[in-house]
Amino acid sequence: MPTIELENVSKFYKPKRRRKGPVHIDMGVEEVNLTIRQGEFVFVVGASGSGKSTLLRLITGETKPNQGRVCIDEKELGWMLKLSRNRAAMMFGKIWQDPTLIRKKTIGENLALAVKIAFGRENPRLVDLRIKKVLGLVGLKGVEKKYPVELSIGQCRRVELARALIASPPILVLDEITANLDDDCIWDTLHLLNDINRRGTTVVMATHDSQYVNILRRRVITMSAGRIVGDVQKGKYGDVLEREKRISPPSKFGADLI
Ligand code: ADP
Ligand code: MG
Repeated sequence: MPTIELENVSKFYKPKRRRKGPVHIDMGVEEVNLTIRQGEFVFVVGASGSGKSTLLRLITGETKPNQGRVCIDEKELGWMLKLSRNRAAMMFGKIWQDPTLIRKKTIGENLALAVKIAFGRENPRLVDLRIKKVLGLVGLKGVEKKYPVELSIGQCRRVELARALIASPPILVLDEITANLDDDCIWDTLHLLNDINRRGTTVVMATHDSQYVNILRRRVITMSAGRIVGDVQKGKYGDVLEREKRISPPSKFGADLI
């Protein structure tokens, strides 16, 4: 049962090209220490640009830290996932901020691709069974032959959720998946995630939707300028740890780099 651990992790983005004047370095995240145990439901909140997406990409190994270590069960993630793409697919179900369904493929073909990445070549009947099962799970039976454009935005997000679940990964990482959805759709999605989490899957979800965070009362990690400034169990949107409020050393990262 995988535990995610970030030890003193920093990620900065180099400026694309040098301009005159001081070099400005975009901090993605800075000196983050974090442990997420199997089965937790974690909201990652914070203003736009505060580092939520960077944090999620560090957790899934998509982004490499410039400093520190990201570990799954005490093994460093980088080399573990470099070994194979299917290993990543078995460990993490991911949905990113922008929709990623392939428009020219049917829902069935989109999902079959995910099966191939996770399991390699499989008996087509088994592939169909897997697809049916996950589509049933997200309440979208019978849409295999449709194209993404024939579905609503909310339904497409559900298909992405189905795709994320196809290999039954122990960890789900979701980046602002409720943006652009109406209230009913958001509630349906959150109920679904709640059920999946109750069965033991870790859910790490970046969001702006304060009202849902406040109703669900799960662990809330608050980011500001790349740092974790709040980490509260059964938290609410905007909860900040007192301890963190006092300790806010100035960034020395940029100075070290130049
Ligand atoms: P959030 O998801 O909270 O909006 P991000 O993690 O996307 O925050 O961004 C954090 C900071 O890192 C921002 O200042 C952003 O401009 C910068 N950043 C993020 N991704 C990149 C990138 N690929 N290249 C350069 N800067 C980036
Ligand atoms: Mg983001």
